[in-house]
Amino acid sequence: YGDFNHKIDYVFKVVLIGDSAVGKTQLLARFARNQFSADSKATIGVEFQTKTLIIDNKTVKAQIWDTAGQERYRAVTSAYYRGAVGAMLVYDMTKRQSFDNMAKWLEELRGHADKNIVVMLIGNKCDLGTLRAVPTEDAEEFAQRENLFFMETSALESTNVETAFLTILTEIYRLIS
Ligand code: GDP
Repeated sequence: YGDFNHKIDYVFKVVLIGDSAVGKTQLLARFARNQFSADSKATIGVEFQTKTLIIDNKTVKAQIWDTAGQERYRAVTSAYYRGAVGAMLVYDMTKRQSFDNMAKWLEELRGHADKNIVVMLIGNKCDLGTLRAVPTEDAEEFAQRENLFFMETSALESTNVETAFLTILTEIYRLIS
């Protein structure tokens, strides 16, 4: 509704990438609509949702893209990355493999995206602390080495979701303004 009353100063495209089932769709649902559903996944095909926010007195429309299952078929296309100014690399902190695959996703991202893209590493499902398979320090070390922002989140409990998106969007804003 806010969209009616404000002119949009900026549109920022941010893509979500990472293995299937790490929680990309639920992170987006939490950020864009403050919703979560335990039983997700509707359609296959690229989808995005938007949320308009104010950063530094400017109206920024965040256009967040979800692979919507394409990653299962290794079919994330260059069109998905085109025009992206931010990327969230998401793993499931209870699944070591999803973290180990971050290097592969980063390589794919760097092969397709603009070199100035802002990248944030996200360890999702921090509500499942007792099942943790990726120590925070491992992720911090990877993030530092690769020059990524890093945050642990829970789409289920809403932990750090807003903060993660705000951080990446604010950083993008800083770079382009
Ligand atoms: P995607 O394939 O990466 O888009 O993953 P989904 O968003 O579809 O989530 C996969 C599964 O993990 C679903 O059953 C979600 O309900 C669940 N899930 C997503 N985020 C969280 C979270 O933060 N905590 C917990 N416990 N489960 C989550």
